[in-house]
Amino acid sequence: MSPIDDPQSKIWLSSPHMGGTERNFVTEAFDTNWVAPLGPNVDGLEKDLATFVGNDVHVAALSTGTAAIHLGLVMAGVQNGDEVLCQSFTFSASANPIAYQGATPVFVDSESETWNMSPEFLEQAIKERIVKGKKPKAIIPVHLYGMPANMEAIMEIADQYEIPVIEDAAEALGSHINGRMCGSFGKMAILSFNGNKIITTSGGGALVSTDQQLAAKARFLATQARDNAPHYQHSEIGFNYRMSNICAGIGRGQMEVLPERILQRRAVYEQYLQKMSAMPGVTFLAEPEGYYSNRWLTTILIDPAQSGGITREDLRLALEKENIESRPLWKPMHMQPVFEGGPFYGDGTCEKLFEQGLCLPSGSNLTQADLDRVFKVIDEVFVKTEVG
Ligand SMILES: *Cc1c(COP(=O)(O)O)cnc(C)c1O
Repeated sequence: MSPIDDPQSKIWLSSPHMGGTERNFVTEAFDTNWVAPLGPNVDGLEKDLATFVGNDVHVAALSTGTAAIHLGLVMAGVQNGDEVLCQSFTFSASANPIAYQGATPVFVDSESETWNMSPEFLEQAIKERIVKGKKPKAIIPVHLYGMPANMEAIMEIADQYEIPVIEDAAEALGSHINGRMCGSFGKMAILSFNGNKIITTSGGGALVSTDQQLAAKARFLATQARDNAPHYQHSEIGFNYRMSNICAGIGRGQMEVLPERILQRRAVYEQYLQKMSAMPGVTFLAEPEGYYSNRWLTTILIDPAQSGGITREDLRLALEKENIESRPLWKPMHMQPVFEGGPFYGDGTCEKLFEQGLCLPSGSNLTQADLDRVFKVIDEVFVKTEVG
């Protein structure tokens, strides 16, 4: 039996989904001996991404999304002792590079409309940090699970206080607000092509900017900051963060199916919505007017006060028993042991999201049989408690 036919094979939250042409780009790289962290696939992927994101952005392909955030912070001038505002409700990779620079993350809570950075608490944080004597050096909002952050309000505040924004669009390739793509709002933005993202290069990332010089600077810093000289000459600290031409080949193939992947993820979301929206205590995150999410992951909240006591852990454990992966929403950074005691501005919105939230299997390669297996468990969990 192939693993695909096995009724008990593992159903993943989000797994790689090749389109078919990836191998052609990789084979071409082998045939032409471009087996290096530069080459035609790297250039080609940068072009494809710039075209897709639009708004005249420039792209530097890098080894990871985390590396892209790190370079973004370096280029924003973040140094030892500085402070950087960062959405608390996110994956640790949004915040870790702040620590790489010896800076302190100042965490900002989410708003309930998008689950992303609250403009209100952002402004409160900026004002208070300035009063305390330190103006933050950068702002990192995140488009979590594909839902765009309120970029209009965030950019207005950022512009008013003249603080550069680095958009973390790792989960939001293809998401937009009124047609303007995530990744094109901030001074810089980052993308990720890790194995679980909407498209993958196995591992990879990119720095995006409307400023051509920043993209060029990112490429320079990512290749050990080598000055223009016949010998190796360096005037700045460099990094080895460039993307491999092999990985970029996978990326070029994936770009051909990205629009399809977005529709497939959104179709998965629609199925969950149909199935669960009437269940007591279950809520989904709707798109605010003009917002378009790539629905990288379908997320739900389960409020035990209204679900007859069912918690997200009940559902997660029941799914796990059937070899189905689901995962609590991100545990906020200000609650993480590694960032404990750090500054946080908010009212606990993201803490509640973490308590009640669950990510459901959302891969674009899920079959109807896979989804039906998930639905069966959902039915069992919710019916059981109705009776009990
Ligand atoms: C995946 C992810 C990253 C990091 O990307 P990598 O390519 O894995 O380094 C950063 N931020 C968020 C929100 C992510 O989901």
